[in-house]
Amino acid sequence: MEQRFADLKQRLAEINDLSRAGSLLAWDQRVMMPPAAAAVRGEQLATVTSIVHERFTSPEVGRLLDELRPYEESLPYESDEASLIRVARRDFEKATRVPGELRGELARASASGYAAWQEARARADFELLRPALERNVELRHRYVECFAPYDDPYDPLLDDYEPGMHAAEVTEVFDVLKPELKAIVADVARRDPVEAGFLAGSFPVGEQRQFALRVLERFGFDPTSWRFDDTVHPFASSMATTDIRLTSRYKPDRFDGLFAAMHEWGHGIYEHGVDPALERTPLARGVSMALHESQSRLWENLVGRSRPFWRFFYPQLQEAFPEQFGSVDEEAFYRAVNRVEPSFIRVEADQVTYSLHIILRYELERELFSGALDVRNLPDAWNARMADYLGITVADDAQGVLQDVHWSGGGFGYFPTYALGNVVSLQVWERMLQDIADVDEQFARGEFRPLADWLREHLYRFGRKFTPKEALERVTGTALDPAPYIRYLRRKVAEIYGADETPATVTAGVS
Ligand code: ZN
Repeated sequence: MEQRFADLKQRLAEINDLSRAGSLLAWDQRVMMPPAAAAVRGEQLATVTSIVHERFTSPEVGRLLDELRPYEESLPYESDEASLIRVARRDFEKATRVPGELRGELARASASGYAAWQEARARADFELLRPALERNVELRHRYVECFAPYDDPYDPLLDDYEPGMHAAEVTEVFDVLKPELKAIVADVARRDPVEAGFLAGSFPVGEQRQFALRVLERFGFDPTSWRFDDTVHPFASSMATTDIRLTSRYKPDRFDGLFAAMHEWGHGIYEHGVDPALERTPLARGVSMALHESQSRLWENLVGRSRPFWRFFYPQLQEAFPEQFGSVDEEAFYRAVNRVEPSFIRVEADQVTYSLHIILRYELERELFSGALDVRNLPDAWNARMADYLGITVADDAQGVLQDVHWSGGGFGYFPTYALGNVVSLQVWERMLQDIADVDEQFARGEFRPLADWLREHLYRFGRKFTPKEALERVTGTALDPAPYIRYLRRKVAEIYGADETPATVTAGVS
């Protein structure tokens, strides 16, 4: 039996090698590649992806997984070996459900949807995207059918990003969040706006990058295992636990690249912290998109927008940008980077309105797949909800329904994980505070390692060994619960706007 396990592990290691080689091609495409190579690179990536899929769904892998059942049952659930077999089997069962022909159609529809989206967004004309989007929705319906029976047609879509989670659970959390967030937005609208004009101006890109790197180095960035490059849409990628690639982007007229860098750091440190014993296995990854996003949000917002963080870094920032920040005091800067302001674009949204952007998208996706909403009516439905949730009027589709790339590529089911990440980040944070009571004092001294070590110990090192639910319960001792996030936002808004700290009305957890 040990021989069969070694055989499976070796096969999975080779598949993982190929898959990471594909990741490296994709990283290169977005960071280094000369643009004329785009078409050929698309072919190269498609070839690698199909080889990975072919090898993984081969009958030999299926046979080994079957034969290893008794072996798996003889091992402790938490062992690396049992976890590897269990997770590989789940991946295998999902991968073999979808016929190759449909996979090919999905990939083609995704590529042509992306091209149509670029054109439609540039012209702010939804009709240019509509046919491709209708095709994507239709194909995704067929994809969903591969996973019948299901409770809800949205469940198989969600499962690709948040394994094991059901739409009903997301709805339960969002039903609690939505009125709370809307109330905070309405409350803030009645207060004096926070001055933030000094965040715009002349901010040379090179100096912004240098400052971001200085922060990352304090967090633990080490050039022997990490890279930090420029790109257009920031992302993080990993080829191994010892090869973590972060990217950020900077605008010469705004101070903002630092926050994207800290966000990507959170994604990177998660994968860097996976137990090296899991290297080259399918377990050497973050467990789900929501858990991943909880870490990017934690580092970006709970660390990077905290008062003690700026207590330490603000004098250095003033030194790096004396003209821009020399006469702005720390308190004014702190309030500016924590202000709440309804805006059209999700990726530029603040900590409160961000999740409302997501809830809007989630509701529209659900309606598209239940049949309640026709693709044709998507822009109107979008604009009506922006007015309702954020109190703003969308001027054109580029500022509205066309702003995100996800739907054009068939990526339905992804959005909710962003808001769930916010929810989880606070659950993890509150639990961490029980163990590191003086975390504020540590940050104010520029010490971030104890936090990173705690997170590694309680979450990162397990990679994908446990399900997302199990991973969350192991860290926090509880199920998904929006209450800590709501408490945090109310506290923050009270601090920034001098409003009353209305106690959160939510105390009960949800399952
Ligand atoms: Zn992220």
